[in-house]
Amino acid sequence: MRKYLLRVLPALLLLAALTACRRDMMAPTVTPTETAVTEPTEQPTEAPTEAPAESSTEPPTEAPTEPEWEPEYDGALGSAGSLRGTTLLISIFTNDAQTAWDDEADREEMLLTLNRMDTAAQWLTEQAAAYGSDASFLYDWTADPDLRYDASFSELLVREDGGMYEVQADYVRENIDTESLRQKYHADNVIYFFLFNTPYEHTPNPWSLGFSSSTDYDIEYVNLYIRFGDIFDAPPSTYAHEILHAFGAPDLYYESTVIPKEFVDYCSQTGCNDIMFTVNAGETIDSDFTPIDAYYVGIGARPAEADEWGLGPSEYDAN
Ligand SMILES: [Zn+2]
Repeated sequence: MRKYLLRVLPALLLLAALTACRRDMMAPTVTPTETAVTEPTEQPTEAPTEAPAESSTEPPTEAPTEPEWEPEYDGALGSAGSLRGTTLLISIFTNDAQTAWDDEADREEMLLTLNRMDTAAQWLTEQAAAYGSDASFLYDWTADPDLRYDASFSELLVREDGGMYEVQADYVRENIDTESLRQKYHADNVIYFFLFNTPYEHTPNPWSLGFSSSTDYDIEYVNLYIRFGDIFDAPPSTYAHEILHAFGAPDLYYESTVIPKEFVDYCSQTGCNDIMFTVNAGETIDSDFTPIDAYYVGIGARPAEADEWGLGPSEYDAN
């Protein structure tokens, strides 16, 4: 499910298929929800004036440990389930055999990725709300440094195929304490963004891999090439598209096991503006989040259109 067949659509408005892949993201519309430490209303610094009948040598022992937080999502469909609840978008600034980040010289570019992630996250929160789903995202590594990592690989990772899936998934397993982060932020879903400081030339489109690509892929991640396809700077629309993959949305611009060719042709002929069919350039997101997308990310009923066109089941229906 990860192909990068780009259809050469008029490049005017659409960066057609800036993305080919699947899965995940989160932007915090609300600041990270660490449990607020409530201060006692009265400071019990003074000894009670009346001598208590019993000698109170021990301070009252309030349970100091919080009970373990139980996510609503059980992880059965990979690190990101449905588009609801709190999702962590983890930024991993990644050096590979051919590309690298300079923490100082590239600081602005790094912050730009965060800004675009923010735009995508807010947009997704709004789209989910229209389907009655409360979806928030946390990603601001400037405020919460444990949402950011720096990784270095000797392998070539800027590529069109998913042959390095395990190499990157192993990085996540070995270097990111996902369970602690889920507890700390009370997060349901986690999406990992490997961010690459790529040149425009010879860089494939961003893509992602996860549970909807293979049920063996429990770590759902995005390979986000910040420049690609000779002229494109990955816009917020691409971030949103990739995040939706993590939640189970398929690409609509090429035929796959769930999307028949007839539907792809129909989308092409009717100039479909579905974000899983096309993404737009620019700093705002002008593509549409459709009932088909809502169905595939687990927050909408299966639309009649899905039956009309013989679309495959969502991962929620299939598992
Ligand atoms: Zn895609």
